[in-house]
Amino acid sequence: MTEFELGELILSSTPFAHVLSNEFRGQYCDYCFIKKDNLKRCSQCSFLYFCDKNCQVKAWEMHKTECKFIKKAGDKKPTPSLRLIALIIFKIKKYGTNEPSEDVYGRKVSFASLMSHAEEIKQDLKRCQIIMAMLITLKEYIGSDNLPPPAEFTEIFGKMCVNSFSICHEMSPIGSGLYLGASVFDHSCDPEAVAIFDGTTLNVRMMKKVPHRDIQKVFISYVGELLLKEEKQRQLKEQYYFSCKCSYCIFSQNDDLMTKLFDDSVEVKEKALKCEGDLESIKQMLNDQKDPELINDACSRLLEEENEVLGDTNIYKIRTLEIAFDTCIKLQAWDKAITLASCLEEPLRLYFGTHHPSLGIFLFKYGKILHFKEFSNVAVTKLSEAENVFKITHGEHHPLTKELESILHDAKLSSVFIDSKKELKCIKL
Ligand SMILES: [Zn+2]
Ligand SMILES: [Zn+2]
Ligand SMILES: [Zn+2]
Repeated sequence: MTEFELGELILSSTPFAHVLSNEFRGQYCDYCFIKKDNLKRCSQCSFLYFCDKNCQVKAWEMHKTECKFIKKAGDKKPTPSLRLIALIIFKIKKYGTNEPSEDVYGRKVSFASLMSHAEEIKQDLKRCQIIMAMLITLKEYIGSDNLPPPAEFTEIFGKMCVNSFSICHEMSPIGSGLYLGASVFDHSCDPEAVAIFDGTTLNVRMMKKVPHRDIQKVFISYVGELLLKEEKQRQLKEQYYFSCKCSYCIFSQNDDLMTKLFDDSVEVKEKALKCEGDLESIKQMLNDQKDPELINDACSRLLEEENEVLGDTNIYKIRTLEIAFDTCIKLQAWDKAITLASCLEEPLRLYFGTHHPSLGIFLFKYGKILHFKEFSNVAVTKLSEAENVFKITHGEHHPLTKELESILHDAKLSSVFIDSKKELKCIKL
């Protein structure tokens, strides 16, 4: 073969170390990240939860050492990032020079070979303060005997920051992990491949066909797509210590579309600025886990204002629509969710292109709601399209692809039996 095919699985990597976010504890297995009822709690630390004996036994190699420290911590449980760095420290200590490695297209990747950006970190005051604070809490957690010297700790910390992934379930982060193999991929704002998780396994698949099989020339995106050039550059600089020089960044390719206003008048600009501020308040409400009803009301009010000044491709409006859509799903306000989805569809297609997992997830959610509300014909169209995306980004065997196929099958049956002329009419916002 002389090319990487569309949808080809080019890397599959299990984590070197991984942790579940504390808010999902008890809902997902701490080892395999499968969502399940009746998880079993670790009888020693009473903190981690596992599917069954099998997952607990597999987790034990990594959990054994931390378990006693978690137990000792009592009510002062470690944060996920503290747990992750402690797990990495225990693992490199255990293996010494005999450390595990991954073979990626002939290149041997080990923890020792990872980039740390330690020199840049030493110049970064904010990061240095984080490191100092972390060393203090880590000393409390695992004791000074287990603490590496500051210089070595900075190296480990840097490697963790630069090479960690948020482990996502339906594109929402539920934990984080360090993956050796995936560190071979550099960033591009217009990537050829995408990393998708199946449990804790990171799979990288091709979103585009390319005329070569050189892994060094395949890029993934380290940040989200719906960001302005400046926001992307800041995130990349702060977390990964580099400035992206792809064509999107050099020419600010999408910024005009992403900030589009109705006109150039001072009045519109002022109103747009106010809308940006209001969106920040809504995000804060989300972070504070405020009542979804309240968030939904705030989104409706904001959308009314945004409709007067922001263009349809403006990302502040898209972000508001996305929050409103997800909140309506939580509130089971299906009619409104359908209206919001119909507004979101076009701009998302514009920014994500044909084969992006985020577009697939959106169409999947939209299709499920349409099917539930018995708009079966439209549901079949959206779900079939989501299926085409998932087959490329997630692969045929991914649990989400399987779930989608079963719902699509139901929707197809319904479209035969239910009045196929039921038309989808969206109420204006
Ligand atoms: Zn335990
Ligand atoms: Zn499990
Ligand atoms: Zn770029």
